[in-house]
Amino acid sequence: MEERKGRRIIMFPVPFPGHFNPMIQLAGIFHHRGFSVSILHTSHNFPDPSRHPHFTFRAISHKKEGEGEDPPSRSETSGLDLVSFIRVLKQKYAEPFRETLAAEVGGGETVCCLVSDAIWGRSTEDAAKEVGLRRVVLRTGGAASFRAFAAFPLLRDKGYFSILDSRLDDPVIELPPLKVKDLPVIETNDPDELYRIITDMVEGVKSSSGVIWNTFEDLERDQLIDMSSNFHVPFFPIGPFHKHNNDLPPKTKKKDNETINWLDKQEPKSVVYASFGSLADVEEKEFLEIAWGLRNSKQSFLWVVRPGLVRGTEWLDSLPCGFMENVGDKGKIVKWANQLDVLAHPAVGVFWTHCGWNSTVESICEGVPMICTPCFTDQLVNARYIADVWRVGKVLERSMMNKGEIEKVVKSAMIVEGDGMRDRCLAFKEMADKSLGKNGSSSNYLDKLVRHALSFDS
Ligand code: UDP
Repeated sequence: MEERKGRRIIMFPVPFPGHFNPMIQLAGIFHHRGFSVSILHTSHNFPDPSRHPHFTFRAISHKKEGEGEDPPSRSETSGLDLVSFIRVLKQKYAEPFRETLAAEVGGGETVCCLVSDAIWGRSTEDAAKEVGLRRVVLRTGGAASFRAFAAFPLLRDKGYFSILDSRLDDPVIELPPLKVKDLPVIETNDPDELYRIITDMVEGVKSSSGVIWNTFEDLERDQLIDMSSNFHVPFFPIGPFHKHNNDLPPKTKKKDNETINWLDKQEPKSVVYASFGSLADVEEKEFLEIAWGLRNSKQSFLWVVRPGLVRGTEWLDSLPCGFMENVGDKGKIVKWANQLDVLAHPAVGVFWTHCGWNSTVESICEGVPMICTPCFTDQLVNARYIADVWRVGKVLERSMMNKGEIEKVVKSAMIVEGDGMRDRCLAFKEMADKSLGKNGSSSNYLDKLVRHALSFDS
C-alpha cells in the first residue's frame, strides 16, 4: 500500500454488476496507489458500503418534489427492454449527478478527476467541466467489442443492421473476424435509441481525458492499437483488475462456503460451471433444455440460476419434480456463486458462459476454457474472439440450445486436452499474470495512469 497522496478520485459506476464490480475493483487499485475514492451511485442495486469501508459512498437521488418514483429496477421488470432502461437511467440521473458531483468537489481534499463508466456518455463530460474536473472513462467491456461499437455509423450506412436472417453467417468485411450474427446488438423495441446510446458512449470516450480498460495488451494488442490510432486519447489497459494485489482486508470479501465445500468433493477439472451473468434471461423452454442437457451429459455441474433468469418464474419452479434428486451429487444449482473463487477452484474444468466481458476475463485468467452462448451486445463479439481468435472456447449458439446439442458440446468440451484449448487458455493466464508483474504491460500502464491522474491538479 502506498502512502496517502491527499488526492481524491470520484467514480460514477453504472448500476449493473458487470459494470459496478470492475469499477469497485478499480477503486481498490487507486486506493492501493494512495488515492482516496468517492463513489457516487444511483439507487439501483444499492451497494453495501460496509463491504467497502475504505471508500466514501454518496447516493445520488434523482427525486425532486413532485417527480415521482425511481425507474423500476431490472429485477422488478423481467423482460424490460434493457435499452429503454438505460435511457431512463441516463435521463433521470444526469441533473442530480451534476449537483452531487459539485457538492463532492467542494468538499475539501483535492479532487484529481472523475472516472465515469463509458455508458454514461457525454453528459458526465459537461458536469465535470462545470466544476473544472477532467474526466477519465472506464470501459468495462473489451477492446474488440468497442471497435465494433465505434463502427456503428459505418455499419448502419452499409446496411449491416438490416441484413436478413438468411445472411447472418456473412462476414463483416470491415471488422474481421466478425460475422453479421456477431454484431453487438440487442433485441429492442427502440433500435434508434440503441444507436444513440452506443454513439453517445463512443463520442464520450473520444472527448475524455483517457480510457481505462479491463484488458491486457497480450490479449487485445491489435484491437487497442487499431483504436488508439483513431481516438487520440491515452489508453490505459491495466487489466485484469481483479488480479491486482490491492491488499484489501479479506473480511470485505463475500464468502460462499457451501459451493466451495461441494467443489472440494469433486475430481480435478471434472465440473462444468454454468452461469449466464446478471442481466441475460431465458425462456422456460430453454431453461429445461439446459437442465436436461447438463444432466444427460453425465458431467458434474455447478449451475447458477439467479432469480429472474427464467422469464415468468420465481426460481426453479419449472424444474420437473424429482430432477435434482435424480441428478444427486453430480449437480448443484445455486442462486449466486462467488465466480472468482469458483473459477479458481481446481475442480472446475469448463465454464459455460454468456461471455460477458468480466466472465470472459475471469475465465481466461484462471486458464478455464469456455463454452460460449452469447445473448446480446458485446457478448456476441467476445464469443467470436474466444472461439476463433484466442481459441480458448467453443460456441454453442443460443438458437442451437437443445438438450441433444448441449449434451454433445458439454461432453466434447470436457475433453479439451486434445485440441489445445486448455493449454492456450493457460498461456493467456500466464500472460495476464506477467502483465501485472514488475515491468509488465498492465503495471506500466497503471504507473502512467497514476501520473496522468496526478497531473490534472498540478
Ligand atoms: N458474478 C458472480 N456470481 C454470480 C454471477 C455473476 O460473482 O453468480 C459476477 C461475475 O464474476 C462477473 C459479473 O458478476 O464479475 C458479471 O459480469 P459479466 O460482464 O460477466 O456479465 P453481465 O452480468 O454484465 O452480463
